[in-house]
Amino acid sequence: MTLPSQLYVDGAFRAAKSGRTTTLINPATEQPFAEVAAAGVEDVNAAIESAQRAWEGGWRDLAPGKRAEVLFAIARLLRDYAEHLAEFEMLQIGKPISDARDEVMLGARVFEYYAGAVGKFYGQTIPVARGGLDFTLRQSMGVVAAIVPWNFPFPIAAWKAAPALAAGNCVVLKPASLSPLTALALGQIAHAAGLPSGVLQVLSGSGSAVGDALVTHPLIRKVSFTGSTEIGRRIMELASRDIKRVSLELGGKSPNIVFADADWQRAAESSPMSVFANTGQDCCARSRMFVERSVYEPFVEKFVAATKKLIVGDPTKAETQLGPMVSAGQRASVEEYLADARKRGSKFATGGGRPHPQGFYLEPTVLLDVGKEDRCWREEIFGPVVAITPFDDEAAMLREVNASPYGLSGSIWTNNLSRALRVSRAVQSGVLSVNSHSSVHVEAPFGGFKTSGLGRDLGMTAMEGYTELKNVYVAE
Ligand code: NAD
Ligand code: MN
Repeated sequence: MTLPSQLYVDGAFRAAKSGRTTTLINPATEQPFAEVAAAGVEDVNAAIESAQRAWEGGWRDLAPGKRAEVLFAIARLLRDYAEHLAEFEMLQIGKPISDARDEVMLGARVFEYYAGAVGKFYGQTIPVARGGLDFTLRQSMGVVAAIVPWNFPFPIAAWKAAPALAAGNCVVLKPASLSPLTALALGQIAHAAGLPSGVLQVLSGSGSAVGDALVTHPLIRKVSFTGSTEIGRRIMELASRDIKRVSLELGGKSPNIVFADADWQRAAESSPMSVFANTGQDCCARSRMFVERSVYEPFVEKFVAATKKLIVGDPTKAETQLGPMVSAGQRASVEEYLADARKRGSKFATGGGRPHPQGFYLEPTVLLDVGKEDRCWREEIFGPVVAITPFDDEAAMLREVNASPYGLSGSIWTNNLSRALRVSRAVQSGVLSVNSHSSVHVEAPFGGFKTSGLGRDLGMTAMEGYTELKNVYVAE
């Protein structure tokens, strides 16, 4: 498989109508390495019209077994070409190769899960009156726009496209301008697997150029978006005109709560990767840590020691844990937060600097004594920065946890079962883990409360979200 560079529209690979391209830069070397087609509004319109034709022309009416067969074939090719996809992901965003491999496999598993779901997705019969029959149908919607960010480009593209296709929709997929390669590769693989022309389109290009045209097109029935809360809000506004369906997976400022009764040593050793993985560019990053005061000092010491051991560097090496940040701009934005922390007198327990002269690297940074009104405590930084604070009282700690406008993810460490249940119920977020940091499971719903989003990805909940529910009553 060679580096993809063209749009996938109407079953063919081609340049943008305008001829425009975007240059991709390898974040680990700062060197340009590819030119990729940059879609314009003409390409968006062509893609949506093709998708509508494909939907009406048969994808929605295909026998479930046939739809499943193509999705399984896609999954198989994803596994066959996994090494290529992992390399594309690494090159475009600097993701360590071992993470990139895991994420490609996750995407393949997502296709398998929804391929298997196709024939097991039922309506209901409902007793409503004497005689007659009332039943529900889960019908496909039409054309779905899937807009994905640059931090987990491939798995997020897969977990939007696969359930939408499985439910009988056609999909226009728009990757972020920094990370088009794995989405375009998915287009190539879908094509090779025999997905009919027009069922999936992949439009690389910038959101500011094509976002509005995509979101407001009258044939788009649903917009499934993952990205910043700011753009999500705009999409929801634009979608309101036609009451288009939206699902939004947005920002986060997730807590990691450690009680003194927990195996806090294990928590301290495993927690650095809960915030620093993907160089902190993770919507689920546990970027606010609450540690019960009696273990605060030894916890911080252990946490900082574990952080210092993280291997930050060349993403091509299998042992690398943290690669560079995605771009110079993203690093500059995080460095502004660090400057603010310095100005406000926070303590840097480790990090804060650039570990390598070349590449957009930033050290994993541990902040202590961060004020509750400071930007580093309140805002999503989207970089390798954590703020740790001690707490004394469970109820007061929970008030502070829930004071955030976000509510995506979080971890709770305790060996007290009652407390685990009580705190799980109390934390206002869509995803939680107890004595673990794992947030994403193919089979389980994933998404946020409050400004972290609307609707859910993954699991059967996501598949429902790509259907309209119809009720039919037939008189006897
Ligand atoms: P972003 O909002 O800048 O961009 C996301 C996508 O939207 C990109 O494809 C971009 O091109 C597109 N876009 C930009 N302007 C648009 C417009 N006007 N209309 C339509 N689309 C437009 O986000 P990002 O910088 O790529 O990613 C970082 C953000 O994503 C963080 O806030 C992070 O928390 C969030 N995120 C959330 C989840 C989740 O599941 N909740 C997962 C990953 C990332
Ligand atoms: Mn952005």
